[in-house]
Amino acid sequence: MISPNALKVLYRLRDSGHVAYLVGGCVRDLLLGREPKDFDIATDATPGRIKKLFRNCRLVGRRFRLAHLHFRDEIIEVATFRAQAPTEDEPPADGNSDAPRHPRHMVSEEGVVLRDNVFGTPAEDVLRRDFTVNALAYDIADFSIIDYVGGVEDLESGIIRTIGDPAVRFTEDPVRMLRAVRFAALLGFAIEEGTWSALLENAHGITRGTAPRLYEEMLKLFLSGEGERCYQLMRHGGLFARLFPGLDAALEEETEGFPRILVGRGLEWVDEQLGAGVAVSPPLLLTLMFGVYLEERAAWSRKQGRAPVDAINETVAGFMGEQAPLVAIPHRVIIAVREILALQERFRRIPGKRPQGVLARPGFGDALSYLRCRCRITGEGHEVLTWWERYSRDKVMPPVEREAEVSRPARSRRRRRGKPAAKITES
Ligand code: ATP
Ligand code: MG
Repeated sequence: MISPNALKVLYRLRDSGHVAYLVGGCVRDLLLGREPKDFDIATDATPGRIKKLFRNCRLVGRRFRLAHLHFRDEIIEVATFRAQAPTEDEPPADGNSDAPRHPRHMVSEEGVVLRDNVFGTPAEDVLRRDFTVNALAYDIADFSIIDYVGGVEDLESGIIRTIGDPAVRFTEDPVRMLRAVRFAALLGFAIEEGTWSALLENAHGITRGTAPRLYEEMLKLFLSGEGERCYQLMRHGGLFARLFPGLDAALEEETEGFPRILVGRGLEWVDEQLGAGVAVSPPLLLTLMFGVYLEERAAWSRKQGRAPVDAINETVAGFMGEQAPLVAIPHRVIIAVREILALQERFRRIPGKRPQGVLARPGFGDALSYLRCRCRITGEGHEVLTWWERYSRDKVMPPVEREAEVSRPARSRRRRRGKPAAKITES
C-alpha cells in the first residue's frame, strides 16, 4: 500500500503544476508485493520550489541535494529529476571555456562522483539509478508504471542488472557493489552475468567508499534479514576480504579440517531473530561476527601474560583500529562490543562476587544473547547459560510471585490492572 503521506505529496506537487512520480525501491517492492521500507518521490520541481510548497520541508545533502518532508511518523524523500554526468569533452553550456564546468557536478580523479546536482528529465533521472529493478516510476496521474530500462522484465525474471556499463557504474560509486549483493540476497534474485563479472573485477575498489558509509551499508547488509546470504555473496565476490582483511585471513585457517570461526552461523542466528521480530543491536551483530576471532586473539594475548581484561580491551582496540580506515565502527559501538566480550569472562564465574551487579551492566542482555548463540553453535556452555538465564529471571521477578502470576487465571489478572476484558470481534 502507498503511504497516505506520499500520496498527499504527489497530489500536491501535481496540483501545483509539476510532474511527480513515486520512484526507486518502493515501486519495486510494491510490484513484488513486499511492504516498502520508505517512499521516494522524484519531481521536476527544484529543491527551492519544494521548500516553498511544503512547510514541513528540510533540504539536506551536499552530494545529492534532497528535500525531506517530515510527517509525524515518516519522512518522504523528494528529489528533483537529475541528469547523467556530462562527459569531459562536452563544451560548457555558455560556450565560455574559462568558466568552471558544471559546478553542480564533481568527479574525483579516480572517477568517483562527489557532487551531482545537474537537473534533468525523468528519462535522464532513470539512467543515473543503480539497477534496472530500482529504476521504475509510478505515475499517479494514470496509475501507470514508467519503465525506460527493462526493469519490469528483470523484476519478473529475478535479475539484478546495473543500468549501463557495470564497470563504469561500480567505479563511479563502489558502494553499488554492496547494494547489488544486498538486493540479490534480500529479494532472492540472481546477479546478471555481466554485472557479476564487473563486480569480481572491481571488488578491490570497494575500499574507495568512505569508511562511515561502508559501516552504514554493512549494517544494512547484515541486518537485512538475509545477512547470511549477503555474507556468502560478499565472500564469493571478494568484497568481504577487502573490507575485513584480518578476519578473512583467519577464516581460511582450519582446525582438523573444520573452519573454526563461524561467521555464517552467527549470521544465520541473526536472520532467525529478525525473522521472529526480535531486534539485534549493532554491537551484538558485530560480536556475533567477530567475537570468536577476537576471543582467540585475546586468548593468545593472555598466554603472553596479559591480564584477562587488558587482553580483551587491547584486542578489541587493535582490531577496531585496523578496521577504522575501511569500515568506521563508531566508538560507542566498539565500547559495547568490548563489554559483551568482557561479560563472557565474568559469566564463567558462577555466581562470583556480586552477581546482581552483573545484571545491572548495560551490556548484560546482549552478552546473554551472544552466549545463547555461541551455545547453539558450539554445543558448549549450556550450564553457564542456564544459570545466568535463571538468575536474571529470578532477580527481575522473584520465583514466588512469578509462579502466582502464571497460575492466576488470565481474566482476574486483567481485572487487577483495572482493564475490562477485551472483546473478541470477528474481522
Ligand atoms: P531500500 O529498500 O533499502 O530502501 P531502495 O532501492 O529504496 O532500497 P534507497 O537507498 O532507499 O534504496 O535508494 C532509493 C533509490 O535511489 C534506489 O532505488 C535507486 O534507484 C537510487 N539509488 C540509491 N543509491 C544509489 C546509488 N548508490 N547509485 C545509484 N542510484 C542509487
Ligand atoms: Mg528506499
